[in-house]
Amino acid sequence: MDDHTPQPAAIELIALTKRYAQGSVAVDSIDLRIAPNSYCCLLGPSGCGKSTTLRMIAGHESTTSGDILLENRNITSLPAAARGTAMMFQSFALFPHLSALDNVAFSLKMKGVDRTTRLKQAQDLLERVAMGHLAQRKPGELSGGQQQRVALARALITQPRVLLLDEPLSALDPFLRIQMRAELRHWQKELGLTFIHVTHSQEEAMALADTMVVMNHGRIEQVGPPHTVYNRPASEFVARFMGGHNVLDTTDGKVAVRNDHIQLAPAHSGSGWLATISDVEYQGTYVLLGLKLNGTDDSVSVMLPEAAFVQQPYAPGDSVNLTWAPWQAHTFPPVLDTPVATAA
Ligand code: ADP
Ligand code: MG
Repeated sequence: MDDHTPQPAAIELIALTKRYAQGSVAVDSIDLRIAPNSYCCLLGPSGCGKSTTLRMIAGHESTTSGDILLENRNITSLPAAARGTAMMFQSFALFPHLSALDNVAFSLKMKGVDRTTRLKQAQDLLERVAMGHLAQRKPGELSGGQQQRVALARALITQPRVLLLDEPLSALDPFLRIQMRAELRHWQKELGLTFIHVTHSQEEAMALADTMVVMNHGRIEQVGPPHTVYNRPASEFVARFMGGHNVLDTTDGKVAVRNDHIQLAPAHSGSGWLATISDVEYQGTYVLLGLKLNGTDDSVSVMLPEAAFVQQPYAPGDSVNLTWAPWQAHTFPPVLDTPVATAA
């Protein structure tokens, strides 16, 4: 075997486009390669095309143009069941009247697999997600975490190569959501599958993803590991959407500066930007200050460690001087896409 042959992507999207009948473009010619055995999060604001992208990969939505490859196999026009993907839905969508075992075996029953074989396979999968001992319980008799494992086993019974998850955690309360995302990450590594997880929460994406794909208006704004996306946002949109950044208009053009990279000093102390504190929010380990830049309507946020705030307890109305190290001001790469001319 040739060692130089690159491993095929788990999923590759080539100029993938979806235009709905009303003429609006939901997904606008996106290209993406998702590495095998990785956790990929599609992230972006509501309506940016995440679910449409996922449904096209799943085969639940037709494509307008472009291609979808799974491990180099073109699956663009295959029926959902023949693709090698499986979908896990919001709130797990288990059948309440069926046991965990019957929930997991359900899709094999639909395929006409005999009872003994399907129950054996379902039991094996439940063992694999550490739920074998609770196989006879109904969803209502299981905790949220246990239900999620049943839902995972149910999605895995078709032996998918890629698991697709559309906002699987968004209906859960905050505590359970954090617990469940740790579980999802654990199972992705344990099972050695590729997960593609849609979320509008940048915090969730950063916690889970090997690769984050930030989308806006049907296009991909940036692809990369969370650390890179957070520290080197490719555009003003990404900097603002990820949060924790200020986008400032400087003589060098627009720059992003993290709110924990801005220093405050008394207003008379030097050559920084003058600002006035408008609000002070205590957050536990840090204090978040809201400021207005003098002579403008622009707002800036600064995150101060609690200890620094105790030393210098700023209050609304205080005038301050803002500075940051030059290397912490991040400029955006030029936008290469030329806008498409709109002919009348
Ligand atoms: P997201 O999951 O990122 O919130 P969607 O992929 O659901 O976004 O939607 C992307 C865009 O496509 C939105 O503008 C939405 O209104 C539109 N859209 C989604 N589904 C349909 C549909 N079935 N018919 C027409 N437009 C749709
Ligand atoms: Mg959606």
